[in-house]
Amino acid sequence: MTEGKTDIKSLTLEELKAQMTERGEKPFRAKQVYEWLHVKLADSFDSMTNLSGKLRQELSRDYELVCLQKVDVRISKTDGTRKYLFGLGDGNVIESVLMKYKHGNSVCISSQVGCRMGCRFCASTLEGLERNLLPSEMLDQVYWIQKDTGERVSNVVVMGSGEPLDNYDNLVRFIRMLCDENGLNMSQRNITVSTCGIVPGIERLGEEGLAVTLALSLHAPSDEVRRNLMPVANRYGLREVLAACRMYFKKTGRRLTFEYSLVKGVNDNLREAKALAELIKDEQAHVNLIPVNPIKERDYVQSDGRTIEEFKHYLEKRGINVTIRREMGRDIGGACGQLRKSFLEKEKEG
Ligand code: SAH
Repeated sequence: MTEGKTDIKSLTLEELKAQMTERGEKPFRAKQVYEWLHVKLADSFDSMTNLSGKLRQELSRDYELVCLQKVDVRISKTDGTRKYLFGLGDGNVIESVLMKYKHGNSVCISSQVGCRMGCRFCASTLEGLERNLLPSEMLDQVYWIQKDTGERVSNVVVMGSGEPLDNYDNLVRFIRMLCDENGLNMSQRNITVSTCGIVPGIERLGEEGLAVTLALSLHAPSDEVRRNLMPVANRYGLREVLAACRMYFKKTGRRLTFEYSLVKGVNDNLREAKALAELIKDEQAHVNLIPVNPIKERDYVQSDGRTIEEFKHYLEKRGINVTIRREMGRDIGGACGQLRKSFLEKEKEG
């Protein structure tokens, strides 16, 4: 961000109205500007043709218009998945993914540059946290992709790099703006926020009056195994995390998703399936099994197909709703954070 300039794309319509009024403009001007930013997805003040030249000039003097730059895009030949690498104003890069489903286009966005949660199998966290993303930078991932495809984005999953509940205020502002009827007017039900299990964040989100879906990265049925994979489990035990999830369901009525990345020999045993079934048998939830995507910095291996099927079958037998995450864009490679990582490595090599 340029110093002294306000990030106009992160302002709500109400805030924009107040600022326009302050400069002696009519409130409807704010609505026009908001529409340029969040419906017509304008990338410059100059293109806002129903504003006077003077106002456009003043806006570009006082405000920064955050727009991502495309650094790279890879398009899958098999399923149309697109992986985008976007450049930010400060030179950082982030990843977003477009997945095409029969029910519509879904975009997976990043919420931070890097991550400080330290999950053992995840590439996004290897270099730690660089910084939080602004609401405008989260919105623009969706806007950019909608413009690029010319098709409406119907679902957003906050499952890219970063821990969304570690960037709480910006996340909530992003959700409200994405669902604003004066903007893209997305349905809250079509937004999923995935967390590693930050208990105060889950509780706060439950009180927020939103109706987004919550996904919990569970990955193990016991604190012991979970601590091996996720340092955050040292801070919040499973009992506490699941109590927060239950409260989230009570407050929002939204059924949860438990994500469970299967790592060979670590959490994919039938013993673990049994413990998992026992742990969540009373929860209103659905389990999403993710065959772990190996990263070269760690020696974790993906469970074999048969083990995954057996794991799934066991849970189903116990009446639990399970899906195996279909690997999208296999031919263009890379799990969360890996595209960015390989880009940074190439840059370093020059
Ligand atoms: N910080 C959020 C979002 C992370 S990414 C969270 O922890 O939920 C979304 C999901 O992908 C999480 O469940 C995460 O644990 C999982 N994940 C990350 N790297 C992975 C990998 N290499 N293989 C399989 N799943 C992975």
